[in-house]
Amino acid sequence: MEFKTIIEPFRIKSVEPVRMTTPDERAYFLREAHNNPFLLPSDKVLIDLLTDSGTSAMSSRQWAAMMLGDESYAGAKSWERFYAEINDLTGMPHVLPAHQGRAAERILYGHLGGKGKYFFSNTHFDTTRANIEFSGGTAIDLPCPEARDFDSDKPFKGDLDAEALEQQIRKVGAANVAAVILTVTNNSGGGQPVSMANAKAVAGICKQHHIPFVLDCCRIAENAYFIRHREPAYAHLSYREIAQEMFALADAAIMSIKKDGLVNMGGFLALRDPKLAEACTNLLIITEGFATYGGLSGRDMEAIAVGLEEVFEADYLHYRIRSTAYLGEKIRALGVPVIYPIGGHAVYVDAKRLYPHIPPEQFPGQALVCALYQTGGVRTVEVGSVMFGKYDAKGAFVPAQQELVRLAIPRRVYTQSHMDYVIEVFDAVQRRRAEAKGYRITHEPPFLRHFTAHFEAL
Ligand SMILES: *Cc1c(COP(=O)(O)O)cnc(C)c1O
Repeated sequence: MEFKTIIEPFRIKSVEPVRMTTPDERAYFLREAHNNPFLLPSDKVLIDLLTDSGTSAMSSRQWAAMMLGDESYAGAKSWERFYAEINDLTGMPHVLPAHQGRAAERILYGHLGGKGKYFFSNTHFDTTRANIEFSGGTAIDLPCPEARDFDSDKPFKGDLDAEALEQQIRKVGAANVAAVILTVTNNSGGGQPVSMANAKAVAGICKQHHIPFVLDCCRIAENAYFIRHREPAYAHLSYREIAQEMFALADAAIMSIKKDGLVNMGGFLALRDPKLAEACTNLLIITEGFATYGGLSGRDMEAIAVGLEEVFEADYLHYRIRSTAYLGEKIRALGVPVIYPIGGHAVYVDAKRLYPHIPPEQFPGQALVCALYQTGGVRTVEVGSVMFGKYDAKGAFVPAQQELVRLAIPRRVYTQSHMDYVIEVFDAVQRRRAEAKGYRITHEPPFLRHFTAHFEAL
């Protein structure tokens, strides 16, 4: 018998209180934060869906493992456990620890990149793009055409457009392509999964042209869930076996372990090529730490080794993916436009369609982010013209392509009743959609303005 309710596959041993606030208090806190929820102190937030990065709850096994942390500078036992876990998962002989994903990115892309070098990806995550561009290289996104249609229920909208990749390689010359990066799942592309068929096609093209194929594998376990349930050839494999098969296609892997590692901090770079590993290890030692800790403490490496096992457990992944879909499908049923199908780690709301009366230069996504906080103390993030909008040479506003709001779900942190509450908040917000007003920026820094900009309601 199959039951409908998706229960959290854990009991709660330790709790962290969250604070209820009144609408008047929230109006005050939002004003104090200049209508930018990034500037809210976390204790003023009831349900925090700002990010799934580093916000996981650890298991009792992980906390117990931390007590085994060996803090020796070189060759610690904890390093051996960390190495064994990542070596088994990726099949790659060289593993470089790093304090988070972008540190591994800086090392690899700083080394491979530089002026005249091209990188192609289904979608470069923002820190990936920033590290490539900082090296002088060029990052080009080649998402599959289905990614642009928010409503179609295509199963693998995270795929890379393999045909466009071949064209681009011919155009710039294979010798100038530093790497092809497949981001699984595709974070910036709505958390949509990448199929094994696509990973194989991309690997084939890379092999043919002798181009390194890198997996940005932050959410490889979530991606494996989608492959097993949507790609018939993989229905009989375990989630971990599916991930291992995808790693087998790649030359290198970079992971922000703050996502599917079920820990609060950490990253790694795994490589097959010994020469490349040696060059990267030199950079690691200069900027991150010695090769057997790379900016992590022994106890961190212990918790990571356990987290990378737990994340592939079938009950966990089923709960994880189904509970994200539960939230997305319920708010969609209320009439809230969302990117469909729902991705693995987050629900993306289309604020442009929710608030058609607010033009992009008045930031419909920011209006929704503020309404969700004001209405129910729920913190989310705008992924639209606040984050990606620009000004042209004459100072005219150039909007982003999309006006989205992301609801990222921390792993193992919230229960179904928390999600039912968020659904009720959405119901209240969408009933008053016609009254929503736009915002204007009153203060902005030159880079990454979404973190610190100030806004005023119009
Ligand atoms: C989070 C993330 C990164 C960067 O990792 P940090 O740990 O935040 O430095 C890179 N790529 C993807 C796809 C990510 O989601």
